[in-house]
Amino acid sequence: MMVPHSETDLCVSVVSQAAAADPWDVVIIGAGPAGSAAATLIANNGLRVLLLDRENLPRPKVCGCCLSPLALSELDLLSRQSTRPLKLRIQPLRKLTIASQGHATSVPYATGGVLSRLELDTQLAAHAVATGTTWLPNTRALHWQTDGDCVLLSVQTKNNATYQIQTRRLLLAAGLHNAVRCDDSQCSQAQQRKRPPHNRIGLGATLPSTGGPLDPEHLIMAIGDGGYCGLIRLEDNTIDVAAAIHPSKLQKDESPAEALSHILSQAFEATTCPVNIATLKETPIRATPQLTHQTGTLDPDCNKIFRIGDAVGYIEPFTGEGIGWALRSARLASEALVTEGNRLRPADQAAARYHRRYHQALAWHHRRCRLVSLALRSPRFVSTSVQLAGYFPNLTGPVARLITGNSLVG
Ligand SMILES: Cc1cc2nc3c(=O)[nH]c(=O)nc-3n(C[C@H](O)[C@H](O)[C@H](O)COP(=O)(O)OP(=O)(O)OC[C@H]3O[C@@H](n4cnc5c(N)ncnc54)[C@H](O)[C@@H]3O)c2cc1C
Repeated sequence: MMVPHSETDLCVSVVSQAAAADPWDVVIIGAGPAGSAAATLIANNGLRVLLLDRENLPRPKVCGCCLSPLALSELDLLSRQSTRPLKLRIQPLRKLTIASQGHATSVPYATGGVLSRLELDTQLAAHAVATGTTWLPNTRALHWQTDGDCVLLSVQTKNNATYQIQTRRLLLAAGLHNAVRCDDSQCSQAQQRKRPPHNRIGLGATLPSTGGPLDPEHLIMAIGDGGYCGLIRLEDNTIDVAAAIHPSKLQKDESPAEALSHILSQAFEATTCPVNIATLKETPIRATPQLTHQTGTLDPDCNKIFRIGDAVGYIEPFTGEGIGWALRSARLASEALVTEGNRLRPADQAAARYHRRYHQALAWHHRRCRLVSLALRSPRFVSTSVQLAGYFPNLTGPVARLITGNSLVG
């Protein structure tokens, strides 16, 4: 049984006047997995941490909701490293099916997990608050400027009131949204995100529990031309739909629901689709900004500002690893920011340490994921591979686990 959301709802733990009163040790923008994990780890060391988000929690998030081995091991470490255990009711993920042009191949998948983002993000933020983090929802970060030893962050409430918060270090964990800008005309242009051509966007929906005969613990990846779509049953029996598609699909007079329906009907023969495609038309569909980008761990204009999670960079989500990367980057940033004596490390030293360790830990995962996303650009390659997998089932499991990083924690 899941803990109902109502039991874990987060109350505002600070009001705007109090948030603005004294400088914080660390302010974190964004309460996704990266922001909340970093808040827990830093607050655990006794520092004053403010975690803010433009939304309140629980809130929906476009995501396949699969937890990679790296994500699972980071969640376990987060629980063991903090003063309170983290209780998450993660379901196992046991089977992966890849479908393309009417062919499908399945492999056992022994080391993954599934949890809705409503539940994961709310529990992680609640855990951060229980560890001593101050929580400020419904507050959008707008821009920053340096102010002596501090960073001055301008924020806006849902009622459009703006005010400023002072902090010694600022962690940007705002995901794919490059929302926070420097307020100073002297700032370099390097703030622009590097994005490749033919970039895709994310689409996501939650289908009602009557949405089709999809087994629990079974991830389905449907591949069509111009995109792919993951389907998984969540803990409350609803079906999570998460897709990456080329935006031109939406420009050709297709609605998001039609674009998702096309991918599913291209991948499956009419009778074998595991969800009821018609329900997509009645379901709200959320979209993300462009997915693949490379922005960097540090801010080029201020050594007190660090990026974690998707804010550093992201590669299309086929292999389902973003949450693991976000959690790992949160841990690396926390270790770089705080000394063993529970003090803030000098900014230059922290920046160099974080940058080095981030690349040591995650560069290989990013390269592998980039290769997979390139291969997926060729529908012929994908459908031939899926057919070949049917002929050589013994090879399929190890290859699938290698490309999805399922056998690689580290
Ligand atoms: C289609 C799709 C499928 C995916 N499937 C998977 C999967 O199965 N498994 C997996 O591991 N990963 C998956 N991912 C990737 C995963 O969702 C991300 O990598 C992960 O959410 C990154 O976490 P984060 O904490 O960096 O950012 P986010 O989770 O995006 O959190 C960012 C937070 O910042 C807040 N915010 C944004 N701007 C501001 C602002 N200006 N002020 C205040 N707050 C702000 C947002 O409200 C949000 O709460 C998928 C992604 C997509 C698009």
